[in-house]
Amino acid sequence: MRDARNGAARTTPFTVCSVVVISKKHRVTSSYRPELVVVKVARSGVRSVRLQAPAAAALKALMAAARKNGFRLVVRSAYRSWPSQKRAYRHDKVLTAPPGASEHQSGLAVDLAVVKHGRLIRGYAFGRSAAGRWTRTHAASSGFVVRYPNHQKKITGIPYEPWHLRYIGPEAAGGVAATPTRTLEQYLRIA
Ligand SMILES: [Zn+2]
Repeated sequence: MRDARNGAARTTPFTVCSVVVISKKHRVTSSYRPELVVVKVARSGVRSVRLQAPAAAALKALMAAARKNGFRLVVRSAYRSWPSQKRAYRHDKVLTAPPGASEHQSGLAVDLAVVKHGRLIRGYAFGRSAAGRWTRTHAASSGFVVRYPNHQKKITGIPYEPWHLRYIGPEAAGGVAATPTRTLEQYLRIA
């Protein structure tokens, strides 16, 4: 706990109640490599992504539920290795976490968008879209949360990212939804 507060990078991620936390405060070293599976994702700019197995199954369930409701969710990014996070960070230091501090390195996070009338709706526009609103409301039943809710930067350290979903399992996701700020930090009492 003390190490984590000091921001020391760990070879295995900081974990509370079996929930992995990776952030600027709780970093991992380049030797952390989660076990991953390949998930085929249809027509999303990327043909397949890598995630940890439970997150992969949950993503398929979430995308199928979205499709039933008329939303064609697509995945823009999932697992990112240390080198790819480093490249992403070099490219955009404002919206991207430095290597070691990104949840994408856990294989438990996805960036989503939606295709509507053949057009890709992403970023904040995704958050404002019907698909984004549906995702915010229904992600928890598949075990996902919108990890960085609006107006919670003080708690999460990250500005609003309606596209970034994090798999934490249905029970924890329900717990996060029940907290006043809808943040994982508050649910795990590490805020
Ligand atoms: Zn993301």
